[in-house]
Amino acid sequence: MTPEQVAARVDEVRGRVAAACAAADRSPASVLLITVTKTHPPSVARTAVAAGLVDLGENRVEELLAKAPLVEGARWHLIGQLQRRKARDVVGRQVLVHGVDRRSLADALSRRAQDAGTLQRVLVQVNVGDDPAKAGCGVADALDLVAYARQLPNLTVEGLMTVPPMPPDGGDANAVARPHFARLRELRDDARSRFPEVVHLSMGMSADLEAAVTEGATMVRVGTAILGPRGDRAWRPSDDPDHDPTDDPA
Ligand SMILES: *Cc1c(COP(=O)(O)O)cnc(C)c1O
Repeated sequence: MTPEQVAARVDEVRGRVAAACAAADRSPASVLLITVTKTHPPSVARTAVAAGLVDLGENRVEELLAKAPLVEGARWHLIGQLQRRKARDVVGRQVLVHGVDRRSLADALSRRAQDAGTLQRVLVQVNVGDDPAKAGCGVADALDLVAYARQLPNLTVEGLMTVPPMPPDGGDANAVARPHFARLRELRDDARSRFPEVVHLSMGMSADLEAAVTEGATMVRVGTAILGPRGDRAWRPSDDPDHDPTDDPA
């Protein structure tokens, strides 16, 4: 897509967010738009930043690390699964990790952050739909996991994240997702009443951002609606025709 096409889609998505905010009596400034750049080359990510979309999301650590040095001015969000042994690769890089779903991962992140002398900001991912295809801790475990993670010395738990079940073919994504978003909000409210720093709700994607905003999302993660269809695999530095292997991250 050309920068003009991206800019037009950004306007459209901002319009959808603004309309949902107006209906819910919320300020559009209370919803952070994260542009999901997975599978897209760094040039596309740079186009997003040039269009004012500074917050970018990736679902794989390797892809995020390869792209980040090539995209000036971006703030990165890791929105996918993270393996414990890769915790060291993300800490110290100002990446917000959205997918903490078990104690062992929280432990590893805090330990690595301690080694690096930093604090790691995270969200706890909850599988509100109990969808076997989705990551996240169970609803019943969410508050315990928040309480556990927040007392680790080098983690700050800033909120909750979820990915709702897919709607059936031809189904209404907003209608299917909304009760799951409402459930996540209740969990966040419970957590926040004990731990005031637990404020964020990362929920809503291209097809269901209206329901997410209605239910209080403070971060929406939007890929397709802004950048168009995705490739079927992760972007790699060797995809770039001018690629110089000596530039690869070590
Ligand atoms: C890919 C992805 C998105 C973006 O999905 P779109 O439907 O393209 O907007 C959002 N959240 C997560 C966790 C993703 O993996």
